[in-house]
Amino acid sequence: MEDRLFRNAMGSFATGVTVITTEIAEEVYGMTANAFMSISLNPKLVAISIGEHARMHQYIKDAKQFAINILSSDQQMVSKQFAGQVNLESKIPFGSYKGLPILEDALAVVTCQLHCDYVVGDHTIFIGQVTGIKLEQKEPLVFSQGKYRKLQKLEDE
Ligand code: FAD
Repeated sequence: MEDRLFRNAMGSFATGVTVITTEIAEEVYGMTANAFMSISLNPKLVAISIGEHARMHQYIKDAKQFAINILSSDQQMVSKQFAGQVNLESKIPFGSYKGLPILEDALAVVTCQLHCDYVVGDHTIFIGQVTGIKLEQKEPLVFSQGKYRKLQKLEDE
């Protein structure tokens, strides 16, 4: 099977966009990721999938904790910054929550302790035990078919 066909099919599944953040030796690191899902309610567990070549892969193993910042509809450039697609001149401001660096303007933040990880093909699935949640009243940033989008509510039938 062609990689392009696989990518196009997977990219047709619309998702939100997150930036994973963590801190190593007082340095803050972030990486854009949309492979994020809720796993379990009791205990509260979530999963992210990180490519083996991403630097964040090792950072999470070292820090053993991470934050998932769910981006709002006005954070497209933030997503591009942490995907290495742009290099913004202005510094990204980070706040702090549960001992982790977070993006203050995110729609939601989920902080996690690393629960376990599974190497699956060329990615590792990191399961996080949720330690804290912050939630704002904002609209989500959406990613589908390689493009950023906004949600549009359908009229009630
Ligand atoms: P680096 O190359 O180290 O960092 C990425 C970028 O973030 C760099 O440009 C760096 O300058 C910037 N950055 C890091 N820390 C800071 C900071 N403190 N202040 C300012 N800038 C900073 N890959 C996956 O593995 N899993 C996914 O689920 C996934 N989903 C994606 C979804 C979307 C919508 C996009 C666009 C990309 C996605 N990627 C995903 C790809 C991933 O974001 C890139 O491959 C990433 O650049 C590689 O991460 P890295 O850890 O090597 O980061």
